[in-house]
Amino acid sequence: MQNRELTTTTIRFLDLSVDDPTLKRELLAVVDDVLSRGQLVFGPEVEEFEGTVARMCHKKHAVAVSSGSDALYLALRSLGIGPGDEVITTPMGWVATTNAILLAGATPVFVDVREDMNIDESLISGLVTRRAKAILPVHWHGKLCRMDAVSALAQEHRLLLVEDFAQAIAAQSGGRPAGSYGHASALSLNPMKVWGAYGEAGAVVTDDAEVRERLNCLRHAGTVNKEDCHFPALNGKMDTLQAAMLLVNVRRLPGWLARRREIARRYTKGLAGLVRCPEGGDDHAFYTYTVLARNREGLRAHLASRGIESRLRQPFLIPHQTAYRSMMPRPRIPVAERLVHEILSLPMHPKLTDDDVDRVIVAVREFYGADGR
Ligand SMILES: *Cc1c(COP(=O)(O)O)cnc(C)c1O
Repeated sequence: MQNRELTTTTIRFLDLSVDDPTLKRELLAVVDDVLSRGQLVFGPEVEEFEGTVARMCHKKHAVAVSSGSDALYLALRSLGIGPGDEVITTPMGWVATTNAILLAGATPVFVDVREDMNIDESLISGLVTRRAKAILPVHWHGKLCRMDAVSALAQEHRLLLVEDFAQAIAAQSGGRPAGSYGHASALSLNPMKVWGAYGEAGAVVTDDAEVRERLNCLRHAGTVNKEDCHFPALNGKMDTLQAAMLLVNVRRLPGWLARRREIARRYTKGLAGLVRCPEGGDDHAFYTYTVLARNREGLRAHLASRGIESRLRQPFLIPHQTAYRSMMPRPRIPVAERLVHEILSLPMHPKLTDDDVDRVIVAVREFYGADGR
């Protein structure tokens, strides 16, 4: 009976409930404290959170904002990227990146990706026009793009560099963390992310004190000293409660990352040869564990029949989405167009047990007839 129940429980793609009683108690204590003090915006926790993020990214400054989307949009605006400018970015990512470029008034230019789904930096030079102003790479699924090469290209072509490291906090390359390469880099802390808040939250990191000042102003209706509006902008502040709770759960982040990496290793060991597994180990944040699979739809249905949730991240390439299709000419992105039909994200969150992971592995082996029987 027990066994039957075990094999029929759903393995969830994501599980955001807080069931660690100690963590829950710590979170509720800071909520209680913030509520009692009543400083619900611009509380001291927001500044402390900014210091923590800046340190993690090896940057001088961080500015807390209300979401990763806001972080991207405000990063672009704080660097003066706007109408007439082109921003070279990825077709394989989340729409927030392209939306931020368009809402800043600039034009996205899509560069194809490598087999690892990150931008192919060898194609960037061919796309640089006189209007090119910035490169905006996304560290997709939590793996860093080849940032040494991307940084060198940005320098060579005198382009600004803005990283979307929404999925890649604590990912690194040669000891250099995600977010440390850009003139301004945007982080999301929405609840799904590797380091997630309990609502919407984001941050921009930069070494440039002027950019920081502009961000401080842009997130508060474009006002200087919270009085005089210098640049029309909306409200993009992070509230004190989110900052306070992020300061609590950041202490759990190293453990969560270690568990994600352990799960990834177990998946890769069990699935190598059946599907194409993501490369990377301790340098990868494993926001998702995304494989390239033959007969992806069939595998997906088989996993569902075994009570295993999986997702397509994302089912459509960005330039093919309804909002943009008629807006721009179809870019040449053959690799992305192939990979988008093969990607499949398997369950990935720190609460997965080894048994859960093994059940996923067994189901994949069953599907490809590789269970050895
Ligand atoms: C989550 C995400 C965003 C947007 O962040 P929000 O906080 O949800 O607004 C942007 N880019 C990427 C790559 C993301 O994964």
